[in-house]
Amino acid sequence: MSDLTRRTAAELAELLRSREVSSVEVTQAHLDRMAAVEGAVGAFLHTNTEEALAAAAEVDARRSAGEDLPELAGVPIAVKDVVVTKGQVTTAASKILEGWVPPYDATLVRKLREAGLPILGKTNMDEFAMGSSTEHSAFGPTRNPWDLERIPGGSGGGSAAAVAAFEAPLAIGTDTGGSIRQPAAVTGTVGAKPTYGGVSRYGLIAMASSLDQAGPVSRTVLDSALLHEVIGGHDPLDSTSLTDPVGGLAEAARSRDLAGVRVGIVSELGGEGYQPGVRASFEHAVELLRSAGAEIVEVSCPSFDYALAAYYLIMPAEASSNLAKFDGMRFGLRVEPESGPVTAETVMAATRGAGFGDEVKRRIILGTHALSAGYYDAYYGSAQKVRTLIQRDFAAAFADADVLVSPTSPTTAFRFGEKLDDPLAMYLNDIATIPANLAGVPGLSLPSGLSDDGLPVGFQILAPAREDARMYRVGGVLERLLTAEWGGPLLDRAPELEVSSR
Ligand code: GLN
Repeated sequence: MSDLTRRTAAELAELLRSREVSSVEVTQAHLDRMAAVEGAVGAFLHTNTEEALAAAAEVDARRSAGEDLPELAGVPIAVKDVVVTKGQVTTAASKILEGWVPPYDATLVRKLREAGLPILGKTNMDEFAMGSSTEHSAFGPTRNPWDLERIPGGSGGGSAAAVAAFEAPLAIGTDTGGSIRQPAAVTGTVGAKPTYGGVSRYGLIAMASSLDQAGPVSRTVLDSALLHEVIGGHDPLDSTSLTDPVGGLAEAARSRDLAGVRVGIVSELGGEGYQPGVRASFEHAVELLRSAGAEIVEVSCPSFDYALAAYYLIMPAEASSNLAKFDGMRFGLRVEPESGPVTAETVMAATRGAGFGDEVKRRIILGTHALSAGYYDAYYGSAQKVRTLIQRDFAAAFADADVLVSPTSPTTAFRFGEKLDDPLAMYLNDIATIPANLAGVPGLSLPSGLSDDGLPVGFQILAPAREDARMYRVGGVLERLLTAEWGGPLLDRAPELEVSSR
């Protein structure tokens, strides 16, 4: 039954509902696949074999007892290690949290458990979700299943690689500037950042609170929509949570036509700096949308040119304050100074010095500087004004188009080390994904094909706030047209991973 790992979540849900397979079988098949390929891929930081099988057995028992279960009940899932899980180690890939066991579940984890999704384990990521390659993990990188010498994107490279390597049919990611969508793009998977406030942030280890959103990672648009419906909805524990539900997502993902849908190409996202093979793949997908009845228009969002600069002030400013709680007293690591007095301040300095990696320190310094007296107006204040301009650009563009589209990432997966010593080159990966976070609008990435280097390309669809269903509709139709051309899912073309018996 090892081919169970090749099924989509929607297909598995159907097999489970008709009782052709049990959740224990499905979960075990994925655990076996993990055992076989983890040595090569390294998508997980921690695995939960026993808990996952116990949760699966419970779902099977409830189904046998004739209970009416939620749609995805019994389908296993991987969760990014920045999301807290009660009783299960959560580190955000940082030494400062090594071995930390949270006393509570994030709201979205509670929802996954209530909906009966067994949690296979916690996935690797850049430390505190800072990065675009997963190379900033304190516990070693994750490799891209398409080419093990290349990065799986970041910060959620573990979640994307787990899904691309058929270790999990579904995963949870978080997206502050692109960490769901860019890894999806470079691994040939699907990922969505919901409207800000659509999924509770309670229990996410915060990076930049005004930008962070958790969302689905999967191999099909429908699977992302189904998972999005499980984790979304109002949460009184998150004061920024939307009160009205954002619904109709799975139904939208099943749409078959785009008649009357206006698709706007953002002229600022796609020119210089975008790999030619990425552009060609993007243009081909746009032609398919046109053939499906969409009206293609060109829109301009001039302030997007300043989005990256604004993001790299607002994000570190918020991150520097969010990370102040890692003080050596409350969570995880505690290091005493090698010499001199042991005071709160010296312990804090020694702990943070030893516990945080270089990229995290860089951002704390950037953020503290941007917020300091004398610089606040020049940096943070200006960045907030740019944020307003970006929101206005979106509003104007959405007056002319129902959705906006662009390549998700300017390049395909790069090699390990290629950008590690050049933070600015690393930051440029997020040029097309960041505007959505600054404006709080939803964004979806799905594969549009392979570039001339044989690596997957991501196609991004953005919708107005609360109109998440639109991106699933356009994405669902495009995916159907593309897979018909390819004669099957794009991931069928990924090289077979060498399977090891451990
Ligand atoms: N790669 C971006 C960064 O380094 C985005 C991170 C994220 O979305 N968590 O900040």
